[in-house]
Amino acid sequence: MQISYTNNNENMIEAVDFVNKLSSKEDFWSEVAEHPKFDNTDVKSEEICRRLRACTKAVTVQHWKFDEERKKTVAATDPSRPYRIYYHTRFLTNLAAAMVNTLVHEFVHNVDMFDDGVSTNEYTHNGQRARDNQGTAPYWIGDLAQHYYVVAHSGVSLLDNEARNYAEQQEFECEIVKVDDDEIE
Ligand SMILES: [Zn+2]
Repeated sequence: MQISYTNNNENMIEAVDFVNKLSSKEDFWSEVAEHPKFDNTDVKSEEICRRLRACTKAVTVQHWKFDEERKKTVAATDPSRPYRIYYHTRFLTNLAAAMVNTLVHEFVHNVDMFDDGVSTNEYTHNGQRARDNQGTAPYWIGDLAQHYYVVAHSGVSLLDNEARNYAEQQEFECEIVKVDDDEIE
Protein backbone atom coordinates (compact mmCIF):
# COMPACT_ATOMS: atom_id res chain seq x y z
CA MET A 1 0.00 0.00 0.00
CA GLN A 2 1.91 2.97 -1.30
CA ILE A 3 0.48 6.50 -1.61
CA SER A 4 2.23 9.44 -3.25
CA TYR A 5 1.42 13.13 -2.94
CA THR A 6 3.21 16.21 -4.26
CA ASN A 7 0.98 19.11 -3.11
CA ASN A 8 1.73 20.83 0.18
CA ASN A 9 -1.19 20.38 2.58
CA GLU A 10 0.42 19.50 5.91
CA ASN A 11 -2.32 17.21 7.20
CA MET A 12 -2.30 15.32 3.92
CA ILE A 13 1.48 14.94 4.01
CA GLU A 14 1.16 13.48 7.49
CA ALA A 15 -1.71 11.18 6.47
CA VAL A 16 0.17 9.88 3.43
CA ASP A 17 3.26 9.26 5.54
CA PHE A 18 1.20 7.32 8.08
CA VAL A 19 -0.55 5.16 5.46
CA ASN A 20 2.78 4.27 3.87
CA LYS A 21 4.12 3.16 7.26
CA LEU A 22 0.88 1.32 8.08
CA SER A 23 1.52 -0.78 5.01
CA SER A 24 4.22 -2.73 6.83
CA LYS A 25 2.20 -3.36 10.01
CA GLU A 26 1.28 -7.05 10.21
CA ASP A 27 -1.34 -6.39 12.92
CA PHE A 28 -3.30 -4.17 10.59
CA TRP A 29 -3.39 -6.71 7.78
CA SER A 30 -4.23 -9.54 10.14
CA GLU A 31 -7.33 -7.66 11.25
CA VAL A 32 -8.39 -7.25 7.62
CA ALA A 33 -7.74 -10.90 6.75
CA GLU A 34 -9.51 -12.18 9.86
CA HIS A 35 -12.60 -10.00 9.51
CA PRO A 36 -15.50 -12.52 9.36
CA LYS A 37 -17.14 -11.05 6.26
CA PHE A 38 -17.35 -7.72 4.48
CA ASP A 39 -20.78 -6.55 3.35
CA ASN A 40 -21.73 -6.34 -0.33
CA THR A 41 -19.13 -8.84 -1.54
CA ASP A 42 -18.61 -12.57 -2.01
CA VAL A 43 -14.82 -12.27 -1.90
CA LYS A 44 -13.33 -13.66 1.29
CA SER A 45 -11.61 -11.22 3.64
CA GLU A 46 -8.34 -13.14 3.41
CA GLU A 47 -8.42 -12.82 -0.38
CA ILE A 48 -9.21 -9.09 -0.26
CA CYS A 49 -6.28 -8.66 2.11
CA ARG A 50 -4.01 -10.62 -0.23
CA ARG A 51 -4.99 -8.46 -3.22
CA LEU A 52 -4.48 -5.21 -1.32
CA ARG A 53 -1.04 -6.28 -0.16
CA ALA A 54 -0.07 -7.47 -3.63
CA CYS A 55 -0.46 -3.97 -5.10
CA THR A 56 3.03 -2.64 -5.81
CA LYS A 57 2.02 0.56 -7.65
CA ALA A 58 1.83 3.87 -5.82
CA VAL A 59 -1.59 5.53 -5.83
CA THR A 60 -1.29 9.30 -6.28
CA VAL A 61 -3.43 11.85 -4.45
CA GLN A 62 -4.56 14.86 -6.47
CA HIS A 63 -6.54 17.89 -5.33
CA TRP A 64 -10.04 17.94 -6.75
CA LYS A 65 -11.46 21.47 -7.06
CA PHE A 66 -14.32 22.55 -4.85
CA ASP A 67 -17.70 21.96 -6.38
CA GLU A 68 -20.84 23.16 -4.59
CA GLU A 69 -22.85 20.23 -5.91
CA ARG A 70 -20.47 17.79 -4.25
CA LYS A 71 -20.46 19.39 -0.85
CA LYS A 72 -20.37 16.07 0.98
CA THR A 73 -18.01 14.19 -1.30
CA VAL A 74 -14.64 13.92 0.36
CA ALA A 75 -12.91 11.93 -2.35
CA ALA A 76 -13.42 10.06 -5.58
CA THR A 77 -11.95 7.34 -7.69
CA ASP A 78 -12.37 7.67 -11.48
CA PRO A 79 -12.77 4.33 -13.31
CA SER A 80 -10.88 5.80 -16.29
CA ARG A 81 -7.88 7.07 -14.29
CA PRO A 82 -6.00 4.22 -12.64
CA TYR A 83 -4.02 4.65 -9.44
CA ARG A 84 -5.40 8.10 -8.59
CA ILE A 85 -7.26 9.47 -5.60
CA TYR A 86 -9.16 12.73 -6.13
CA TYR A 87 -9.40 14.58 -2.83
CA HIS A 88 -11.97 17.38 -2.64
CA THR A 89 -10.30 20.67 -1.63
CA ARG A 90 -13.26 21.50 0.63
CA PHE A 91 -11.97 18.81 2.99
CA LEU A 92 -8.31 19.84 3.13
CA THR A 93 -8.99 21.15 6.64
CA ASN A 94 -9.86 17.64 7.85
CA LEU A 95 -7.69 16.14 10.53
CA ALA A 96 -4.94 13.81 9.35
CA ALA A 97 -6.80 10.95 11.10
CA ALA A 98 -9.82 11.41 8.83
CA MET A 99 -7.56 11.75 5.79
CA VAL A 100 -5.93 8.42 6.63
CA ASN A 101 -9.40 6.88 6.54
CA THR A 102 -10.18 8.44 3.17
CA LEU A 103 -6.86 7.46 1.58
CA VAL A 104 -7.13 3.83 2.59
CA HIS A 105 -10.77 3.75 1.47
CA GLU A 106 -9.85 5.03 -2.00
CA PHE A 107 -6.82 2.74 -2.12
CA VAL A 108 -9.20 -0.21 -1.70
CA HIS A 109 -11.23 1.07 -4.68
CA ASN A 110 -8.08 1.45 -6.77
CA VAL A 111 -6.98 -2.12 -6.15
CA ASP A 112 -10.49 -3.41 -6.72
CA MET A 113 -10.79 -1.54 -10.04
CA PHE A 114 -7.31 -1.61 -11.49
CA ASP A 115 -4.89 -3.92 -9.76
CA ASP A 116 -6.38 -7.25 -8.81
CA GLY A 117 -6.76 -8.67 -12.31
CA VAL A 118 -10.55 -8.40 -12.23
CA SER A 119 -11.92 -5.20 -13.72
CA THR A 120 -15.32 -5.34 -12.03
CA ASN A 121 -15.87 -3.79 -8.62
CA GLU A 122 -16.06 -6.80 -6.37
CA TYR A 123 -15.73 -5.33 -2.90
CA THR A 124 -17.23 -1.87 -2.97
CA HIS A 125 -20.10 -0.07 -1.27
CA ASN A 126 -23.71 0.17 -2.28
CA GLY A 127 -24.49 3.88 -2.74
CA GLN A 128 -22.36 6.74 -1.47
CA ARG A 129 -23.35 7.20 2.12
CA ALA A 130 -21.10 5.97 4.90
CA ARG A 131 -23.91 5.19 7.29
CA ASP A 132 -25.35 2.59 4.94
CA ASN A 133 -21.98 1.04 4.20
CA GLN A 134 -19.87 0.78 7.34
CA GLY A 135 -19.48 -2.98 6.91
CA THR A 136 -18.18 -2.85 3.33
CA ALA A 137 -14.46 -3.31 2.66
CA PRO A 138 -13.58 0.30 1.73
CA TYR A 139 -15.34 1.82 4.74
CA TRP A 140 -14.39 -0.85 7.26
CA ILE A 141 -10.73 -0.95 6.27
CA GLY A 142 -10.58 2.88 6.10
CA ASP A 143 -12.05 3.07 9.61
CA LEU A 144 -9.53 0.49 10.81
CA ALA A 145 -6.66 2.58 9.42
CA GLN A 146 -8.01 5.65 11.19
CA HIS A 147 -8.23 3.66 14.41
CA TYR A 148 -4.53 2.76 14.07
CA TYR A 149 -3.69 6.42 13.52
CA VAL A 150 -5.59 7.54 16.62
CA VAL A 151 -4.01 4.84 18.79
CA ALA A 152 -0.53 5.69 17.46
CA HIS A 153 -0.98 9.39 18.16
CA SER A 154 -2.82 9.47 21.43
CA GLY A 155 -2.66 6.11 23.10
CA VAL A 156 -6.05 6.94 24.57
CA SER A 157 -8.22 3.90 24.14
CA LEU A 158 -11.38 5.86 24.94
CA LEU A 159 -10.98 7.45 21.55
CA ASP A 160 -11.18 4.11 19.80
CA ASN A 161 -14.90 3.95 19.33
CA GLU A 162 -15.00 7.60 18.50
CA ALA A 163 -12.37 7.04 15.85
CA ARG A 164 -14.16 4.07 14.40
CA ASN A 165 -17.34 6.09 14.13
CA TYR A 166 -15.75 9.27 12.93
CA ALA A 167 -16.42 8.70 9.26
CA GLU A 168 -20.04 8.03 9.99
CA GLN A 169 -20.37 11.19 12.05
CA GLN A 170 -18.81 13.18 9.27
CA GLU A 171 -21.18 11.62 6.76
CA PHE A 172 -18.17 10.81 4.68
CA GLU A 173 -19.19 10.29 1.11
CA CYS A 174 -17.20 8.86 -1.72
CA GLU A 175 -17.96 8.84 -5.41
CA ILE A 176 -16.94 6.60 -8.24
CA VAL A 177 -17.09 9.24 -10.93
CA LYS A 178 -15.47 10.65 -14.05
CA VAL A 179 -13.07 13.49 -13.19
CA ASP A 180 -12.19 15.99 -15.91
CA ASP A 181 -8.74 17.62 -16.30
CA ASP A 182 -10.11 21.06 -15.44
CA GLU A 183 -11.42 19.75 -12.12
CA ILE A 184 -7.91 18.90 -10.96
CA GLU A 185 -6.00 21.57 -9.12
ZN1 LIG B 1 -15.85 4.65 -1.76
